[in-house]
Amino acid sequence: MTAKLIKGTEIREEILEEVAAEVKDIKEKHGVVPGLVTILVGENPASMSYVTLKIKTAHRLGFNEVQDSQPADLSEEDLLALIDKYNKDDSIHGILVQLPLPKHVDEKKVLNAIDPDKDVDGFHPVNVGRLMIGGDEVKFPPCTPAGIQEMIIRAGVETSGAEVVVVGRSNIVGKPIANMMFQKGPGANATVTVVHTRTKDLAAHCKRADILIVAAGVPDLVKPDWIKPGACVIDVGVNRVGEKVSEKTGKTVAILKGDVDFDKAKEIAGSITPVPGGVGPMTITMLMKNTLKSLKFKLGLA
Ligand code: NAD
Repeated sequence: MTAKLIKGTEIREEILEEVAAEVKDIKEKHGVVPGLVTILVGENPASMSYVTLKIKTAHRLGFNEVQDSQPADLSEEDLLALIDKYNKDDSIHGILVQLPLPKHVDEKKVLNAIDPDKDVDGFHPVNVGRLMIGGDEVKFPPCTPAGIQEMIIRAGVETSGAEVVVVGRSNIVGKPIANMMFQKGPGANATVTVVHTRTKDLAAHCKRADILIVAAGVPDLVKPDWIKPGACVIDVGVNRVGEKVSEKTGKTVAILKGDVDFDKAKEIAGSITPVPGGVGPMTITMLMKNTLKSLKFKLGLA
């Protein structure tokens, strides 16, 4: 059996078209568009390429995109003042501070200074709490887990009563996706197990999973014989395992691998996400969706 591929690149296009249509409709009826500011401190190359992609996507959707690039030596005080300025700016509905921040800045303090109603990344403790309560309390689910859940729903995978095993317990992927999958609601109602570095028998847990979500950051951690035949496998891992020259551009690019041995796993799983082109494209997509949602909350449309 060869698994059905769950392609983030295709799901992204579906969602972005929906967001663009809503943005157009709101603009016509209310004369406003979602406003998203990205604050980038310093010139970390990975952050810069990620931010470039965000800007491109926001422009494509007709957002008011504000790119605020600041020097690496910006003081913590000045950064907090900048956040305060955008917290008070009515044309801005989403504030994103690109991580990592320079070492002299207290990351936690900065993230906690963002107005929770503009925290479209969903990392503020208020939004983490809202996610835990679930249902109508949730305003901004964190983007990567929200993307994972959306992929599972759009792939038509049954989650109600399913055994979900999440590998990894980070604050940005493992913990929130585990929480989201056991809540009441669409794409949820599952029975969830979280496994991590101290788990005694990782393989035995994975073998029970109807839906296996892997976010460990260890290439090929999940072996083919850990996968239940027919299971849905969501591989969140993005691991750089080498470099190659791109046939398209002639440039040197990273060779990326997931946490699952894809070539063998696809012969056992019922559905599976590739790396790259699986979960990766969903994060920015859900960031755009959260920013639109923020405007809709403000207008009383959500
Ligand atoms: P993290 O390092 O913060 O957390 C990894 C988790 O995996 C930890 O909780 C750890 O206990 C667990 N783990 C690590 N090795 C393990 C092992 N051998 N056995 C069992 N558990 C193990 O990482 P993260 O931020 O959650 O990211 C995980 C992976 O997902 C990374 O490869 C990252 O690049 C990728 N990622 C992708 C996206 C995206 O595609 N949009 C977004 C976020 C993270």
